[in-house]
Amino acid sequence: MTIKIKKQPAAESLIRIVEKRADVSLSKCYQCKKCSVGCPVAGQTESPPSEIIRRLQLGAGDELLQTDLIWTCLSCETCYARCPNEINFAAVIDALRSIALEKGVAKPEGNPPLFNRLFLNTVKTFGRAYDLQMIALFKIRTGNIMADTEKFPTMIKKGKMALLPPSGADKRKVRRIFDRLPENKGTEK
Ligand code: SF4
Ligand code: SF4
Repeated sequence: MTIKIKKQPAAESLIRIVEKRADVSLSKCYQCKKCSVGCPVAGQTESPPSEIIRRLQLGAGDELLQTDLIWTCLSCETCYARCPNEINFAAVIDALRSIALEKGVAKPEGNPPLFNRLFLNTVKTFGRAYDLQMIALFKIRTGNIMADTEKFPTMIKKGKMALLPPSGADKRKVRRIFDRLPENKGTEK
């Protein structure tokens, strides 16, 4: 009897996908933890930067996409600046974010992906961020209309938030940047 075995291509591991998208080599990491020590949000997350890298090195799969640092990272690049091996961990987080969005991984509390999209939408529309519109839409979409509204009068009085949309930006130039994105995934149509 002849047994036929259909060859299936092996699924690409998460670490290889991340390395390609972030253009980094995570095998260079020797766990000195300088990135985690400098990270401003590491104390509030379940896995700090060095641990995320270690988990990837050890073969973590899609369960890593649930980790909260993906959405609490501020993209400040302190981790990158401190790394003796010049590993751009902020780019690793960007790669994990895009993979999580593509795979439709459950949104964390507070819905940072929605916040990010609305932020980019205002930049795309006005050429600069327009906080008031972004926050209003975020509140409507999340149904959390009254949260933190007591802070608005003080912010407006101190000039921390403008009532009118920003002007003066080169909107066409900004629009061209968005149009160049492969699938314009960051913004809502
Ligand atoms: S870029 Fe993100 S992970 Fe890196 S130090 Fe800043 S907040 Fe932490
Ligand atoms: S600073 Fe660089 S080498 Fe050290 S743990 Fe972080 S990523 Fe790894």
